[in-house]
Amino acid sequence: MNLIDSHCHLDYFTDDELPSVLARASAAGVVEMVTIGTRLRQAPRSQALAESQPNIWYTVGVHPHNAAEMPVPQPEVIAALTAHPKAIGIGESGLDYFYDKAPRAVQQDNFRAHIKAAQATGLPLAIHARDADEDIARLLLEERDRGGDFAFLLHCFSSGRALAEAAVQQGGYVSFSGILTFPKSTELREIARDLPAERLLVETDAPYLAPVPLRGKRNEPALVAHTARVLAETRGLAPDALAALTTANFRRLFRKAA
Ligand SMILES: [Zn+2]
Repeated sequence: MNLIDSHCHLDYFTDDELPSVLARASAAGVVEMVTIGTRLRQAPRSQALAESQPNIWYTVGVHPHNAAEMPVPQPEVIAALTAHPKAIGIGESGLDYFYDKAPRAVQQDNFRAHIKAAQATGLPLAIHARDADEDIARLLLEERDRGGDFAFLLHCFSSGRALAEAAVQQGGYVSFSGILTFPKSTELREIARDLPAERLLVETDAPYLAPVPLRGKRNEPALVAHTARVLAETRGLAPDALAALTTANFRRLFRKAA
């Protein structure tokens, strides 16, 4: 069984920890992973990490939490940082109205800049959405009207059904994390059950949100296997079939990761 962790933050692990994290991933059948950008200045480290391991990819972007730390980047600047062959996506960017760590207007400008970078490069945008369903859907539509189609996924999906459906309607993908395995996530599992199979992805969002049965522990890419198992059960698929499905979906969306 070959799984891909489509969203993790490997820069949270020290150089000493990383070899064992990667070994456990490989033992769990997690053959590739994407380490996700949250600040532009992190790009050189992500690039070095991706160059050091054949199965690590990376993305470039500014997390909504960090949107006010620096002036909002020009889309061209974000796009230029993805020239490297292992930079396969943009993000994560989006809106987080739960923590509101940056003013909402700045978060929106930041999100729009990332959408424009996705349009310019043809690379998929990893979207962080928390308590901002309506504005996420609205900005996706507005920027599509303005600048044309772009590829994207809603990462660590925990929003409402309407946003999942709006995303799918616009050609987007939906990525499920350990939240899917939590006992109280009944509604989330119902959404996961109902979405089109060809739009499903799995991720850890490590080091956050470890799945059951390791909830509360530090998460790492190996543990995406637990989320994949629950998604397989939810969809009535064998684990192997679910792994093949999500891997095929990943390759279709992240075209540079071929
Ligand atoms: Zn996120």
